[in-house]
This record gives sequence, C-alpha cells and structure tokens, in this order.
Amino acid sequence: MSTSPPDLARQSRIVAQHARTSGLLGVDFVPVYASDAMSLGEGVSAIAPDRPVRVEAPEAAAPGPAPTPPPPAMSARAAEIRVAECDPSTPEEAQGQLDALRARYEKDAPHQHFVTDHTKIVFGEGDPRARLMFVGEAPGADEDRTGRPFVGRAGQLLEKMIVAMGLSRERVYICNVLKTRPPNNQTPTIEEAMRCAPYLHEQIRIVGPEVIVTLGLPASRLLLETSSTMRQMRGRWASYPPGGEFEPAEASETPGRTPVMPTYHPAFLLRSYTPENRAKVWADLRLVMERLGLGAGA
Ligand code: URA
Repeated sequence: MSTSPPDLARQSRIVAQHARTSGLLGVDFVPVYASDAMSLGEGVSAIAPDRPVRVEAPEAAAPGPAPTPPPPAMSARAAEIRVAECDPSTPEEAQGQLDALRARYEKDAPHQHFVTDHTKIVFGEGDPRARLMFVGEAPGADEDRTGRPFVGRAGQLLEKMIVAMGLSRERVYICNVLKTRPPNNQTPTIEEAMRCAPYLHEQIRIVGPEVIVTLGLPASRLLLETSSTMRQMRGRWASYPPGGEFEPAEASETPGRTPVMPTYHPAFLLRSYTPENRAKVWADLRLVMERLGLGAGA
C-alpha cells in the first residue's frame, strides 16, 4: 500500500500528538493497527492486525507541522467561556444558554488545534436541566454522521441502562469530553481534552445536574483531575469539582459540588460483556438511582 505525503504527515502528527500527551491520560501506547502502521514508514515494522504498537517518544515520529500553542491550564474552568452571568432558572433559559455555548464552541472551534475526522459537531443533548448527566469520551462514526451523542452500539447499550434506571434519554443530558470525532476513534489526548474542557465545564454549570456519571477513563480523569484507574474510581462517589481525593457521598453534598459516579464506558462493556462487568456497572448505576431517589426499574 502506498501512502501519499499528506497522509504520512497527518499520520505523523497524530502519532506525535498522542505520544506527547496521552501518557498524562494513562495511555502509554498509541494504538496503531496494521493498515495504519504501513503508512507510518520507517521505524514501524509489520505488526499483526489489532495489536497496538508502542511509541517510545514523540521524537520517534516524523516531524509534522509547527506545534500548536499550549492548551489551557489543567485547572481551566468554564469561567473563561461563560455564556451568561446568571445560572439559568428555567429549562428554556438553560436551553438558551446551551445554544449560546454551542455557538461559542463553533466560533472558537477548539478542535482546529488537533487532528479530527469529523464532519459534524456533536455537542450534547437531552434535558437542559436534567438531574442526571452522562459524560462520555468522544463521538464515533455514528455520532459524527448524525450529530448526536451515543447513538451507535455503545449508545444503544447506554440507552438500555438509562431505561433500566427508570429514565429515558430525553430526561437525562448526554455529552462528551470531545465534541468532534477523533481519527480512528482514538482516545483523546490530554491536550485535546484540555482544549475542550472549558465547554464541558460550562455545560455542567448550565445543566446543573444533581449527579454526573462519567463513562470511562478520559471523562473520569478530566472531571476528577486524577490519574487513578477505572478499577480504583468506579463504584465510589467522587465530587466535581474535585476536593482532594475521593470523598464519601456525604462530603460531596457541599453546595457548588456535584457527586460523580465513574463507571465503565459502554464500549468497554461491549468488548468485555461478562456477567462480572455488567454487574459492576449496574451496581454503580444503582448507587446513582439511590442518590436520586429512583426506585429500581421505576
Ligand atoms: N462513545 C462516546 O464516548 N461517546 C459517544 O458519543 C459515542 C461513543
């Protein structure tokens, strides 16, 4: 397979960007699959399909275009992109603020600073004043096609979970860390996550959920500002914004803090659909239901 120079430059940029920053999200390898590896040229030998390749250092990749300016600081919050002075008091006001935030996102286009494979912005959807908010990782192909979060296979599983909790998609708010599809559905890098974080923080401020469920590692680590693993985080209440390490449920009843329940991403469940993993996710969701006063299957 031959690779044209623009393809090679693009691939190199993707690899360099991931190698530079993904370690901070706990990803110590860049998943490069056989078809991609062939286009990476020197330094990447033939590999079996579906086996990730370890990239030692950013320098290992061929030089790409000039580096983009650094992302906002780790602690960057919504303040810098606040779209309204007051917290919304009605769903209409909240929807208005979310619309203004989306327009702000489209104008700023933070994704222009990194490589994407997107055709549509997938901003988020649901009840603008939902009691429960789900935060995923990034849109995939189905989401990019429709402009709606979690509508593919992982989304269908998420919807089943929501229904099992006695809710519906329309009654919760669903969004992602990234609003645009990454190439090859790669895990967001810390740089990508940080560039988009202020919009997510502002989404949370506007919706004002009583509970946030973070789906998978990037969303959990970003909102809780931790490098813990899913195994350490899931099933334990944490608080957003984080105040030290994990706090017991009562501690996150503090005004201005929202209880967060990290759980496995539905895409992980689809890959590892074991009774144990399903039971773990259901146990996490039961804690959320308890906190929101939702009866089992009610
Ligand atoms: N996975 C995500 O994290 N988000 C989506 O919207 C779809 C799949």
